[in-house]
Amino acid sequence: MSQKSGKADIICPVYKKCGGCQLLHMEYKKQLDIKREQLTTLLKPYGKLEGIIGMETPEHYRHKVHAVFGRDNKGKVISGVYKEGTHIIVPVEKCLLENEKADEIIQTIKGLLKSFKIKTYDEDTGYGLLRHVLVRVGHSTGQIMVVLVLGSPILPSKNNFVKALRKEHPEITTVVINVNDKKTSMVLGDKEQVIYGPGYIEDRLCGMTFKISPKSFYQVNPRQTEVLYQKVIDFAELSGKEVVLDAYCGTGTIGMIAAPHAGRVIGVELNKDAVRDAIAGAKKNQISNIRFYQADAGDFMVKMAGSDEKVDVVLMDPPRTGSSEKFLKALVKLGPQKIVYVSCNPETLAKDLQFLCRKGYEMDKGVGVDMFPFTKHVETIVGLQRRDM
Ligand code: SAH
Repeated sequence: MSQKSGKADIICPVYKKCGGCQLLHMEYKKQLDIKREQLTTLLKPYGKLEGIIGMETPEHYRHKVHAVFGRDNKGKVISGVYKEGTHIIVPVEKCLLENEKADEIIQTIKGLLKSFKIKTYDEDTGYGLLRHVLVRVGHSTGQIMVVLVLGSPILPSKNNFVKALRKEHPEITTVVINVNDKKTSMVLGDKEQVIYGPGYIEDRLCGMTFKISPKSFYQVNPRQTEVLYQKVIDFAELSGKEVVLDAYCGTGTIGMIAAPHAGRVIGVELNKDAVRDAIAGAKKNQISNIRFYQADAGDFMVKMAGSDEKVDVVLMDPPRTGSSEKFLKALVKLGPQKIVYVSCNPETLAKDLQFLCRKGYEMDKGVGVDMFPFTKHVETIVGLQRRDM
């Protein structure tokens, strides 16, 4: 055993096998130092980093927990995570990152399988039923969603299964069956059947209520998400009059929080379920100056840039791959006075910044928010201003 991993092995028995916590061997302060240094170096050509905002208690922050089900080579049912880059299941019962209640629910489900004669799915043969369990916990509402991902649509004695599960965990507010019969590394399939409750949960952030469906994107670390969103609003410096575009808006969280500070807000997002959740959220929060569109952000941006619509501020939060060239070119053409770029991947952020800074923008603010303690992942917010030409 190397010196480096010795301490981490005590904290987590599957540290090395799992691969999810690349920085577990380091004290939290040191993790933040490393992330700050990494960001400072990457952003140096464009501007200055204010620092990185860490968590006071960095454990158990993940409110979306996923477990893959299968059997070990002795035939015993196991649940856990795929070893990084493989389909080998590493059994995990408790995780330092995950919400503890979610972990307990997954263990209860594992314990119920035998008496309900539910077999775990075998990826090689396609035999068996239960593939994955996804648990989403509303941080401030306490509402809990359980998604059972099955290889085929029928769960025997489903009502009794829900009853037995809720007997152990009455705090579960909804249970959904998701059918994934494909040979794929995607967790969720297309078909869904709600077998208990409304089929979604709600959560509250920054004073707003958000609806979260099984497939909608919602930040996994709600405590830090509030910090993140507050910073986005600070960087946007809205006066109450601006037209704001929230690109890659997910369930519309950022746009809805910005809406009371803006003239009006337009949200664009590819995922249909997320857009449906966003529209429901706006209604629930009684926000009338926001509209959501389901589209590819690049296509949408091209249309906006080609119309006479004026946009003052673009808030963008693309996936890990960063934004597309199509989007960036159209963004520059649209020419908002301000851009606030939220990124979960500093490398693609730096690449996109290079483009924007060559095309008339300059970075005036930047800050890291540690959304993923113990892992190598870093979240960054950058504020850009259009240079007056
Ligand atoms: N701003 C949101 C979501 C950010 S995650 C939040 O804070 O919760 C990135 C989002 O981009 C996801 O919801 C994903 O579905 C969406 N997305 C990915 N590719 C896209 C594309 N080409 N066009 C529009 N949205 C896209």
